[in-house]
Amino acid sequence: MIFIIKRRMRTRYWRVNPFHPEKNKIIEAASLIRAGNTVAFPTETVYGLGADAFNPEAVQKIFTAKGRPADNPLIIHVAYWRHLEKVVQEIPPEAALLVRRFWPGPLTLVLPKSPEVPHVVTAGLDTVAVRMPRHRVALELIRRSRCPVAAPSANVSGRPSPTAADHVLKDMYGVIGGILDGGSTSVGVESTVLDLSSDVPTILRPGGVTREQLERVLKRVRVSSERENLNGDEFIPRSPGMKYRHYSPRGELYIIHGNIEKAVGKIKELVLNWQKEGKKVAVLCSRETQQHYLQNDFKADLLMVLGSRKEPKTVARKLYEALHRCDEENMDVILVEEFPFKGIGYAVMNRIIKASGNRIIQL
Ligand code: AMP
Ligand code: MG
Repeated sequence: MIFIIKRRMRTRYWRVNPFHPEKNKIIEAASLIRAGNTVAFPTETVYGLGADAFNPEAVQKIFTAKGRPADNPLIIHVAYWRHLEKVVQEIPPEAALLVRRFWPGPLTLVLPKSPEVPHVVTAGLDTVAVRMPRHRVALELIRRSRCPVAAPSANVSGRPSPTAADHVLKDMYGVIGGILDGGSTSVGVESTVLDLSSDVPTILRPGGVTREQLERVLKRVRVSSERENLNGDEFIPRSPGMKYRHYSPRGELYIIHGNIEKAVGKIKELVLNWQKEGKKVAVLCSRETQQHYLQNDFKADLLMVLGSRKEPKTVARKLYEALHRCDEENMDVILVEEFPFKGIGYAVMNRIIKASGNRIIQL
């Protein structure tokens, strides 16, 4: 499906200090939100595209700007406990516990919605997803807007999420009301979505807060039936967003699964084969394997080091930036090493698998 998005709106741009955001800039951005417009802003995970969660026409503008399917609900971003009270029916004890432990932070809770939340936000579901971001710019914007702010990632639907203002501008300039540029985001992958509306708390999307962290607070945590490693079969979507193509760069992305030394050999062989066909090929590797791709007889068209295999946080921070770079440099094929499914690495692999559209090369 191709969306032709007309770029005709004036997009305001403010560069802000991420730690001490300038009050006048936040007030201007918040006045756009209050007037029913959309504003992109940094959070600790990725950039969000926000609108007043209680204004259905404003929320509709988010769906239009992104080309987002109407059945994929949004996350409401809050700055206060009383915002949370306004959007959910009630706050169960385990939600209160999680809020105290992880908010502000990359944990989204799914709870039965209050009747005031417009259906367009929840895509007709009777539950609502809500979180409090850990970023001064996001929190100040929500406070000054004086309303909870519905905000999905600020990218065209299906594309890699934005971790810097440049990524947002590429996708959204001329179709949104404004953008607050607060530099690069620190976590780099989206929030963990945890469903508290069923019997056992269930992770619908892995993210910035890990399963291990949640298990220290909750007695039981289930992971939805999504693929958990590279050996499994297709998954059945539980969260509406899961069924869509996601996070995808323009080039075809492949994951090479298996022993890492063998994977390096296979990647080099594949690069050469594709280059012979005239394709531009990128390799996304780890610090540990980097030197193998720098030997004389071999040159990928683009080589990007995501970080050490032992530091999944760094890999998470760099992943989307690397995918955006592959697009900027017109890569036809992107070969990615498998990273350990540990801690936030679990979320990293979840995004890489989706970006690949399940193109997995088994060794
Ligand atoms: P995004 O904001 O683009 O990162 O996407 C938000 C994610 O949260 C999507 O995967 C949605 O499907 C999911 N989500 C939002 N609201 C709900 C809900 N009420 N129940 C289940 N998943 C939800
Ligand atoms: Mg998204």
